[in-house]
Amino acid sequence: MIPGLQAIRLQELRALAAPRVWSIEGNLEELASLTPVRGSISAEHQGNVLEVKGKVSTIVTLCCDRCLNEFNQNLAFDTDELIWLEDNAEETNNSTGVSMLNGIDNLVECIDPLGSFDPERWVFEQLSLQLPVVNHCGEDCPGPPLAKKKQPNQILEHEPQNEAPIDPRWAALRKLNSS
Ligand SMILES: [Zn+2]
Repeated sequence: MIPGLQAIRLQELRALAAPRVWSIEGNLEELASLTPVRGSISAEHQGNVLEVKGKVSTIVTLCCDRCLNEFNQNLAFDTDELIWLEDNAEETNNSTGVSMLNGIDNLVECIDPLGSFDPERWVFEQLSLQLPVVNHCGEDCPGPPLAKKKQPNQILEHEPQNEAPIDPRWAALRKLNSS
């Protein structure tokens, strides 16, 4: 939990009639990072949308998918997002607005206007979006570990004693392997 990043009720944000600003410095529970998550975000209630802006960065340690070594990756975002404030119950009352609401619903996130905005959750989601799909430590990646080279030798050393009848095809394969 980052200090001071408690969720805030949207009605409270609306009453402010100005952007609420959070400065961020701390660690996210759900995303372990090497350095504290730092930056600031703001949220402004604009009637039917919530405008959230944020500039945040941190460094996380990832495991390379190829060489399995750990490496550090900079994660940062500088985002300006509109979150639609939509009350599902009101949709039925407002028959003209329904199709428009549904159309927008597909494009943007929306939250219940009577609900609350969780700044920490938002920061976590934005940082998660920046995580690479494939973890690659970089140009100097040494490639996969040596496992492939070692294993066949070890198997050959143990096999001859343990296996009594040897299929001729298997023997030929073994000859190929050892050459
Ligand atoms: Zn690597």
